[in-house]
Amino acid sequence: MDLAHRARVALSHCRVDLPDTTGPTVMARTPVTGRELFPVPAHDAAAVTAAIDAAHDAFLTWRTVPAPVRGALVKRFGELITEHKEDLADLVGIEVGKIRSEALGEVQEMVDICDFAVGLSRQLQGRTMPSERPGHRLMETWHPAGVVGVISAFNFPAAVWSWNTALALVCGDTVVWKASELTPLTSYACSALLARAAGECGAPPNLNVLVVGDAEAAAPLLDDRRVAVVSATGSERMGAAVAPRVAARFGRLILELGGNNAAIVTPSADLDLAVRGIVFAAAGTAGQRCTSMRRVIVHESRAEELVSRLAAVFDRLTVGDPFVEGTLVGPLISASAFTSMGDALSTATADGGALVAGGERVDVHPDAYYARPALVRMPAQTALVQRETFAPILYVLTYSTFEEAVALHNAVPQGLSSSIFTTDQREAERFLAADGSDCGIVNVNIGTSGAEIGGAFGGEKTTGGGRESGSDAWRGYMRRATNTINYSSELPLAQGVNFG
Ligand code: NAD
Repeated sequence: MDLAHRARVALSHCRVDLPDTTGPTVMARTPVTGRELFPVPAHDAAAVTAAIDAAHDAFLTWRTVPAPVRGALVKRFGELITEHKEDLADLVGIEVGKIRSEALGEVQEMVDICDFAVGLSRQLQGRTMPSERPGHRLMETWHPAGVVGVISAFNFPAAVWSWNTALALVCGDTVVWKASELTPLTSYACSALLARAAGECGAPPNLNVLVVGDAEAAAPLLDDRRVAVVSATGSERMGAAVAPRVAARFGRLILELGGNNAAIVTPSADLDLAVRGIVFAAAGTAGQRCTSMRRVIVHESRAEELVSRLAAVFDRLTVGDPFVEGTLVGPLISASAFTSMGDALSTATADGGALVAGGERVDVHPDAYYARPALVRMPAQTALVQRETFAPILYVLTYSTFEEAVALHNAVPQGLSSSIFTTDQREAERFLAADGSDCGIVNVNIGTSGAEIGGAFGGEKTTGGGRESGSDAWRGYMRRATNTINYSSELPLAQGVNFG
């Protein structure tokens, strides 16, 4: 299959009008074959500043458009995504190497967040509080914040942007999107669909301005005061570089960084369920989700059985071309991702770990990097196990007491997603309680990955503390004003203060 041709077809269906490539370019690539596709326009820091100018101009108009009217645009955008679901899934499959079902799932997530945002556009509610003063009213109002700078990672090239953008748009903000340099085609297609929806709805241009470039190009987004919110998704290393710069100008940050997600498997666990949940979370998307499961902490009485069942499944997982039906595990994004996986496995062995299954390169295309998911028993939660390797490696640790399991679970720097497999309600509740899992996502009897958009998404500690998507995450995209209105002819002061 000619993936360059297939990508061009999807782009043309989405009516992407790529500007000429006489300026800077980035080479679109596919991890499916490891080959280059074709160059597309890229942006430098000056172009990013121009993008902020344009998005800020658009903001000055957009913030005064009634929120339900803003919702109508997002509704149309959701319809266009639905219409172009296959095209977008093609691009996600080509640029990230996701299997068809997961690529379609990512696009469905875009539709879901649009639906959510449309409803939200009539529910951006503030509270009214009783005033302590007679003839006074106290209330709060939520206003658009400004330009939102969205920096997105390669592994969810469409969904992460849409989580941010659907909410930002109904909240009255505009967006400058610094897409991953690894996934430019998907970002051009998504942006074209949104621009088409805006045109059809009579919305101002430049509600979303796409810039494709590297970390250096992104600098104005971090430093420009007109960028009220920076929502950055990526590695902890990226967050450590971005956060201090945005904080230095007191900008608002939504950080969605790396995870090191674990499941605790207790003596009472339903192992049929646990094996299925663990395998999907650990091997799905070739271990390249922020919520991928990286650690299993299993009670010593169930360890042998769980490990042998997991090993049997890991050994027969279909690793291969994601466009071939029946494939469950596609490629790693790059040669360097495969090298990191190999390095981690060598360190694991040097630390006393035992490779039980997988870990080897699978020969699918000579220039691409496919790997069989690895299952590794570790004697302890070593430094290696405490960091995120963005590849399909699942470390198995054992425990004897529940307290020990929770302590091991929480003893990593990251705090994104977690799960417990148990049929003991007390254990489940203890894991969900204040002294249980310290993560932003805490699941019972399902794996760590595959969140729905209705809940707030994000994590604690070095995962960054940000929340996106559902629940009340919208508040992160708005500014709150507290209003006191005096409708009396007296001027009583709060707290009974007497001033003359
Ligand atoms: P990455 O950190 O290499 O890049 C992410 C984005 O940040 C890219 O657009 C990149 O160009 C940009 N970037 C990197 N350094 C920057 C800097 N100094 N200034 C400004 N921009 C910078 O991450 P990746 O390899 O694309 O994605 C994988 C990582 O993302 C993993 O760690 C994964 O856990 C994480 N991730 C987190 C979430 C979440 O919601 N928590 C979701 C998806 C991915």
